[in-house]
Amino acid sequence: MNATATRETCLRCGAVLSRYRSHDEQICAPCQRAELEAEPGPRILEPEQLVVAVAALLLQAHAHEPDRRVHLRAELAEQGIETDHVEIRQAVQKLRRRYGMEIDADERKPGHRLVDWPYRFKRLRGPTARACFWRRQQKTLFRV
Ligand SMILES: [Zn+2]
Repeated sequence: MNATATRETCLRCGAVLSRYRSHDEQICAPCQRAELEAEPGPRILEPEQLVVAVAALLLQAHAHEPDRRVHLRAELAEQGIETDHVEIRQAVQKLRRRYGMEIDADERKPGHRLVDWPYRFKRLRGPTARACFWRRQQKTLFRV
């Protein structure tokens, strides 16, 4: 009697399954690994990409519901982006420092809220029609 005829084989590739596997496993270890890698897991963004993602969430919420506080970590998790509170805080600090966004973050209330963004989008006229940002409030950067 042939010994391999009684052994079970992998459902995907047909390889003979290990005798040490647990009884519910129907596919071999390389096929299990390939299936796990094919599943989309949570993404981890680079710090600069996270700044852009946070800015997009805050600006979107500010445009639709100005008083709503955005729970950034939960909303990013909905999009499959995994972060922690330290990365969120660093991204918010960068948005405040670099782009002058006034972001309200109260420890007693969950979430962040974009209070004001001193830049507006203005389309220039003329032959070199380009779009540019201009600063509405000049009190902070250009004071003399
Ligand atoms: Zn297999």
